[in-house]
Amino acid sequence: MGTVIPSAEEMFRITGGAAPSEMNPWFNFLKLLERSAKVMGLDTGYYKILATPKRILEVQLPVKMDDGRIEVFVGWRVQHNDARGPCKGGIRYHPAVNEDEVKALAAWMSIKTAVVDIPYGGAKGGIRVDPHKLSPNELERLTRRFAWAIAPIIGVDRDIPAPDVYTSPREMAWIYDTYSQIVGYPEPGVITGKPLELGGSEGRKEATARGLQYTVEEAIKVLNIDPKKATAAVQGYGNAGYFSAKFMHELGMKVVAVSDSRGAIYNPDGLDPDAVLKHKKETGSVKDFPGATNIDPDPRVGNAKLLELDVDVLIPAAIENVITKENVDKIKAKIVAEAANGPTTPEADLVLHEKGILVIPDVLANAGGVTVSYFEWVQARTREWWDIETVRQKLRVRMTKSFRDIYNLHREKNIDMRTAAYWLAIDRIVAAMRLRGIWP
Ligand code: NAD
Repeated sequence: MGTVIPSAEEMFRITGGAAPSEMNPWFNFLKLLERSAKVMGLDTGYYKILATPKRILEVQLPVKMDDGRIEVFVGWRVQHNDARGPCKGGIRYHPAVNEDEVKALAAWMSIKTAVVDIPYGGAKGGIRVDPHKLSPNELERLTRRFAWAIAPIIGVDRDIPAPDVYTSPREMAWIYDTYSQIVGYPEPGVITGKPLELGGSEGRKEATARGLQYTVEEAIKVLNIDPKKATAAVQGYGNAGYFSAKFMHELGMKVVAVSDSRGAIYNPDGLDPDAVLKHKKETGSVKDFPGATNIDPDPRVGNAKLLELDVDVLIPAAIENVITKENVDKIKAKIVAEAANGPTTPEADLVLHEKGILVIPDVLANAGGVTVSYFEWVQARTREWWDIETVRQKLRVRMTKSFRDIYNLHREKNIDMRTAAYWLAIDRIVAAMRLRGIWP
C-alpha cells in the first residue's frame, strides 16, 4: 500500500493545463482531494486514479451559421470515473468554458453521485460558446453536431448527459433525437432533463433546490434554529436560486436578500420570491424591486454585501469562487448551503469551519438535481412514470440520509463537512474500484 500522497501541485503539473491558482477549479478539486486523502489515509494508487480523469474527448464543432459562414467551436466531454456505474453529468454552454473547468466539474460529479449513493460515476461536458449570440437554428445545429461528436462515448449504460449552465430541456430533446437517429431506435435513457413530453421527470425543474431544502431542514434541526424565526439570503436568481428562495420562504424563513448578475436587493422584513421573479421577468433583473433597497450595485465584485449579511442561511446559487480568503472573515451566516458548484475556495472553506459555520457542501446541497436525473433515467428504462409526490418523497429519503451520514462523520472525526462528504464518497468509489480490480 502506498502511503505518500503526491501534492495537489504535483498532480496538477501532470494533469493540468493553465497555471495553478485559487481560481482554477481543477486545481481546487485536486486540493480538496489531497486534503481528504490525507485525512482518511487513502492509498496512493487510488488517490492517483481519482486525481486523473478516465477519459477526455475534445471535439471540433463546425457549424453552418444562418448567413452561410462556417464557424468552428470547441467542446469537451470528460469522464472522470465510472467505477460505480455509467458516467453522469451536465453539458454547459459558456464563453469561458475550458478543459480544466470541465475536468473539475466531472470530478465533482463522481463525488456527488457517490455522496447520494446513486449507481453512477461522474462526467461533464462543455462547449466554449456564448449561446446568446446564436439563433435557435444555429444552436440546434451546434447541439446536434456536439451530440454526434460525443456519441461514440455516451449511451444509456455508458455516460448520460443532462443540462447545466445555459442548456435546457430544449437542447436535451435535440441530443435525445440525434443520438436516437444514430443508433436507429428511440433511446430516452441516454439523456436526462428532457421535456416532460419526451419522458422528463416530474419535479426535475425544482429538484436541485428541493434537495437543498431537505438538507437545510436537517441543518437547522441540528443547530436548533426555528425556521419561523430564521432569515436567508440567496446569491443568483436562476433555476437554483429562485427555487431555493421560494422553498426557504415556504419553510417560514424571511428571505431578506437576493441578487442576480445585475444587482442585489435587501428588505429586512422579507421578500416575496414569486413577486421578485415576476419583477425580474418584467424588468430583466431583481434590481429596483419595489419596497427593497438596492445593495451591491456591481455584482462583478462579488456581491460583497449580500454574502456578508448576518443571516441564518446563506445560499450561493450563482457562480464559482465567491467566498474566498479575501471575504471569508466577513461571512456571518450560521449555515452556508451551496446551491452553486464550487462557490467556496478550499482556503476559505477551512476558515468557515474554524469559525463554526456549518457548510452544506455543493456535492451534497445541490445533489438533488442529479438524484432526480437518476429517477428520470430509471423511469425511462422501466417506461413507468412517477407523480410529483413520489419523486419528492424518494428525494427526501436520499438527501436526508446523505446529510446525516456526512454530519455524523464530520462530528465523529472533527473534520469540516466538505472533507466528510469527500471521505464518504471516496470510500464508496474506492470500494468499487477494489472489488472490480485493475484490468488490463
Ligand atoms: P441559471 O443560469 O439559471 O442562474 C444563474 C443566476 O446567477 C442568474 O440569475 C444570474 O443572473 C446569476 N449570476 C450570474 N453571475 C452572478 C454574479 N456575479 N452575482 C450574482 N448573481 C449572478 O443557473 P442555475 O442552473 O441556477 O445554476 C446556478 C449554479 O447552480 C451553478 O453553479 C450550477 O452549476 C449550480 N447547479 C445547478 C443545478 C440545476 O439543476 N440548475 C444543479 C446543480 C448545480
